[in-house]
Amino acid sequence: MSPSPNSTNTLRLHVAIIGGGITGLTLALGLQTRNVSFTIYERASSFKEIGAGIGFSPNAERALKVIDPRVHDAYKRVATPNGEDFFQWVDGRHTDEIIYKLYLGQQGFQGCRRSDFVDELATMIPGENVRFDKQIEGIVEEENGGRVRMRFKDGSVEEADVVIGCDGIRSRTRHVLFGPSHAPSYTHKFCFRALIPLPSALPKLGVHRTSTRFMYNGPEAHIITYPVAMGEILNVLLVISDSNPWTTEDGRHTSSGSKQEALAAFANWHPTARTIVDLLPEQLDKWAIFDMHDRPAPYYARGSVGIAGDAAHAAGPHLGAGAGFGMEDALVLAALLEAADKRCEGGKSKGELCCGALETYNEVRYERTQWLVGLTREACDLFQWQNESAGSDSRKFAEEITWRFQKIWEYDIDGMVRGALEGFGTKSGWPEKGQEI
Ligand SMILES: Cc1cc2nc3c(=O)[nH]c(=O)nc-3n(C[C@H](O)[C@H](O)[C@H](O)COP(=O)(O)OP(=O)(O)OC[C@H]3O[C@@H](n4cnc5c(N)ncnc54)[C@H](O)[C@@H]3O)c2cc1C
Repeated sequence: MSPSPNSTNTLRLHVAIIGGGITGLTLALGLQTRNVSFTIYERASSFKEIGAGIGFSPNAERALKVIDPRVHDAYKRVATPNGEDFFQWVDGRHTDEIIYKLYLGQQGFQGCRRSDFVDELATMIPGENVRFDKQIEGIVEEENGGRVRMRFKDGSVEEADVVIGCDGIRSRTRHVLFGPSHAPSYTHKFCFRALIPLPSALPKLGVHRTSTRFMYNGPEAHIITYPVAMGEILNVLLVISDSNPWTTEDGRHTSSGSKQEALAAFANWHPTARTIVDLLPEQLDKWAIFDMHDRPAPYYARGSVGIAGDAAHAAGPHLGAGAGFGMEDALVLAALLEAADKRCEGGKSKGELCCGALETYNEVRYERTQWLVGLTREACDLFQWQNESAGSDSRKFAEEITWRFQKIWEYDIDGMVRGALEGFGTKSGWPEKGQEI
């Protein structure tokens, strides 16, 4: 059991997590397992995610296991096995033939409905650790490494020793740290997402195409399909290039769209691709894809306030890695804050410990996560035949995409945590070598 969030124990840390999406929830569970006190402040009135699909690559799965094996078990309870352990790419425009297969590892990169996964995580977090309807507006740190004060839209004020903004791509925490100039920008891609019941998809696409992970490449668009909900539903994502600016009156990243618009984008594609698009409902939400590529956060922490997940490094969805990188952040933060918490009685102030932990977090995470943001744009160009060198050449595509995925998937998660603890120890003057992970 983690210490009570209301405890007045001045010799233990209390962590405020802003936002209860996948990053915030996995951070909370990592802290809970490590007996560190926390409260999640979530803007919405419950933990909610849309039903659309999401999949976790091997690095993300390893991070989940190290956060807490129960969290990995929760994912596996809702993850849908792929029919084959390969990611398969198809020429969606001309031939409908498989142009490349990449091994995913045994039972790797399984899809699930986001809502199913978040529901599983939410049941593991005690109600007393959560405040709903709490929209962060302001954050102020006391001078000389004192407590951090948070002001919410409802007028309430709360305090913690350290605040981690897991409040998504339009993060208020990031805005508080860096102002409006480090904001997401439109990538000139938008997407349509749909969940197609298997009885509709199967007769049109057959068993092979509905039971495992496929991507259909082509000019200025691509399609991803994979099974979720134990194979009862086919998750479909269409990603379409767009030369126009994204404009909505209220600045939202979604607007209403239609199947006609989607069909027009794939009008000249192979009949299989058009069949997939035709499975979509008539009315669709259109999701603009924004990322943090053009105006990145300059760093992920100042003093005792940090940012993680999409708040820090939102990337496009094209490599299926954004949430996984948020989980990697959560793991490093949980390990470092546990180390800081254990040393609260050792003479250093909590402020010094939290600053040191977050500084180390930034050092360990910045390069890899920023790399993903750029890499994701490059990958989308490859899928959409916009890479100058590869174009629609399958052999070049295979070469270019393989190393990118491998660098994401084969990351040494355990080494990352070890390195973080050693770095924190060196910075703070204590040895952490040989730490069990
Ligand atoms: C189409 C698509 C497909 C994707 N597929 C994959 C995939 O297969 N695999 C993968 O790893 N990633 C994928 N991603 C990326 C992934 O969805 C994100 O990286 C991930 O969901 C980000 O989680 P987060 O918790 O950091 O942010 P969010 O999910 O945005 O959560 C932020 C939370 O903070 C709350 N909040 C916001 N503002 C405030 C405030 N002011 N005060 C309090 N609370 C606040 C929100 O209500 C929300 O609960 C995909 C993305 C898209 C768009």
